[in-house]
Amino acid sequence: MKIGIIGLGTVGSAIATALYNTGLVREMVLIDRDDKRALATSEDLGAAAAFGFDINIRPGNYRDLKGAEIVIVAAGANQLPGETRTDLLHKNAAVIRDIIPQLVKVADKNVKIIIVTNPLDVMVMLATELSGLPASQVIGTGTMLDSARLRALLSRQFSLSPASIDAYVLGEHGDSSVLNWSAATIGGLSIPEFVKQSKNSLTIAAKKTIEHRVRNAAYEIIKGRKATWDGIAAATANLVRCIAEDARRVLTVSVVENKIALSLPRIVGADGARQTLIPNMDASESRALKQSAETIKKNYVKLGRVK
Ligand code: NAD
Repeated sequence: MKIGIIGLGTVGSAIATALYNTGLVREMVLIDRDDKRALATSEDLGAAAAFGFDINIRPGNYRDLKGAEIVIVAAGANQLPGETRTDLLHKNAAVIRDIIPQLVKVADKNVKIIIVTNPLDVMVMLATELSGLPASQVIGTGTMLDSARLRALLSRQFSLSPASIDAYVLGEHGDSSVLNWSAATIGGLSIPEFVKQSKNSLTIAAKKTIEHRVRNAAYEIIKGRKATWDGIAAATANLVRCIAEDARRVLTVSVVENKIALSLPRIVGADGARQTLIPNMDASESRALKQSAETIKKNYVKLGRVK
């Protein structure tokens, strides 16, 4: 398949590597406003082809995206230590406004655009509006990463494979995200039932620690490593695989629905993210999801006129 990546900073280049390693991609076009960066990334990763998959990786311009089935947008500023994702709102809206019109001019009408740039949900809304594409084709990685972090922490708590845990984070990919404890299952059992049967324990304090670590993971990683890249690269490669193989897996991606983009479990396949599942939520989770939606809406309004 042919893929484009726009933005070859820390995250975009990690995504390029992760995608290369899937073996699914035959052609990869790399675009950055810094041409030297795109060229250097394609040279470096191109050398990897001698050890593994035969893939045509090259720097390019927007015209080279013609025929791409998926284009990933990972351009824009990253958080500095202490900055929130929302602090990037205006800077990165300018980046999306620059990229999307150029992209849709050349892209096939069935292209799937994957948005990685933060603040994620607002950027999905902006990109959907600017692109004029069906909402199901403009897909944000959303809380895929947050949900993966939740499963990883639960797997450590219970010494269990994360593959056996179904647990999702909903809402904003940001500080107002909602941990959907009441719908989480392990081996088909609710968490309290699993804890009882397996003679494990999950105290209120342990739950609070998990919530804190899921919501603050990016801040902690940025403190230690200046940026985050491995988790988001794996999440994006996973999403690409799901589309490429029409896997129809349930992923917490962010797409515009009822005039707002936020993450809910959605069935993702070759035609994008078409079907949304509304998970069971208790009253406090429902309230928190509404608040999360309000936060996203307020930030979108701050952008003013879209076009
Ligand atoms: P970075 O500063 O390392 O790289 C950004 C790249 O974007 C640079 O190479 C820059 O030249 C390029 N760029 C900027 N404006 C451009 C434009 N108009 N056209 C083309 N290229 C342009 O940043 P990073 O660490 O790679 O992060 C990129 C984005 O990914 C940030 O917004 C960050 O917050 C986000 N991110 C999202 C997640 C997630 O879960 N969704 C996780 C990590 C990072």
